[in-house]
Amino acid sequence: MPSIKHYTIPIFVPQLGCPHQCVFCDQRKISGALRVPDATEVEAIIQKHLATIPHENSHIEIGFFGGSFTGIDPALQKQYLSIASRFLPPSSPPTCRPVDLPTNRPASRFSLPIAEGIRVSTRPDCIDEERLHLLKEYGVTTIELGAQSMDDEVLKRSGRGHTTTDTERASALILLMGFKLGLQMMIGLPSDTMERSLFTACRIVELGASSTRIYPTLVIKNTPLAQLYREGKYDPLSLEEAVRWSAAICRIFEETGVTILRMGLHPSEGLITGRDLLAGPYHPSFRELVETVLWEEDFREAMSGEYDGPITIHVSPGQYNVAIGYRAANKKMLSGKYDRVKFIKNDSLQGREFYADHH
Ligand code: SF4
Repeated sequence: MPSIKHYTIPIFVPQLGCPHQCVFCDQRKISGALRVPDATEVEAIIQKHLATIPHENSHIEIGFFGGSFTGIDPALQKQYLSIASRFLPPSSPPTCRPVDLPTNRPASRFSLPIAEGIRVSTRPDCIDEERLHLLKEYGVTTIELGAQSMDDEVLKRSGRGHTTTDTERASALILLMGFKLGLQMMIGLPSDTMERSLFTACRIVELGASSTRIYPTLVIKNTPLAQLYREGKYDPLSLEEAVRWSAAICRIFEETGVTILRMGLHPSEGLITGRDLLAGPYHPSFRELVETVLWEEDFREAMSGEYDGPITIHVSPGQYNVAIGYRAANKKMLSGKYDRVKFIKNDSLQGREFYADHH
């Protein structure tokens, strides 16, 4: 059976609806989206993405990211959602109220693949029953909360303006009202430690999240965190620390079936060139680095025997590149012990399953 590929059409609404300035945040620089789109632009963005997504074996969602969606003026939320909901199958949502729309139904809708859900990201303290009813009405399926940390001191020192109790309350309400819950976390925030980050990951599991994102904290220019960094009051994680912490966190999510949608920030132009970045563990292939370490740990554990002749390592096709490692790091490490190391793709394996043939 062909595998289903997941696509999320991203619509960035940089810092729209945010009641607080979190110390690390400048969404315009982080997302690369310089301004908030109007409803007409939202429709164009969706159409443009849909035109590039295959009709077959695709699972498509439309995602509003980069702000506090449920903190936006409800009239604008309705405008955005009514545009997005027109790309959902006709039966979903059945109760969508008509609103004044800036454009007519997209003429080409039926020649394009159809989105199957809408996801929005927001803050824990911008969730209540009334706001969730609005999202339900327009076919929103998943709500991602920026939990960031489940330690109140970390939240306070990061200027989040909410507490862990807000995250607990909002998560429970989201699940109670039948949405899927995503909880995003950050590592290396002011006063964070590896233990606090691991605790956050465990709480994310316990709160019932089905998905997560792991973002290492970066010092973006002209943010309050940049000021703290310049004053010597904040030390970012090194890249190596961020990779090791993330690998340990990954194990918690993998063992409990929480899908990790992303590790590391999307590589915007300002981050890639360093124009917007003052300090911190940025790497355009951050996820690959973390997965390389997970494989490295698994290989080291399996390497304890006496045998040092040639080996062929069977891995699942989807893991082939990261098993070999970023810049072939794992292949080089294994070559230090074994005479000859070869990797092959094996369709019968899944995830990080592997076995080695000794010759
Ligand atoms: S709530 Fe999210 S988008 Fe808004 S300032 Fe904080 S981190 Fe940035």
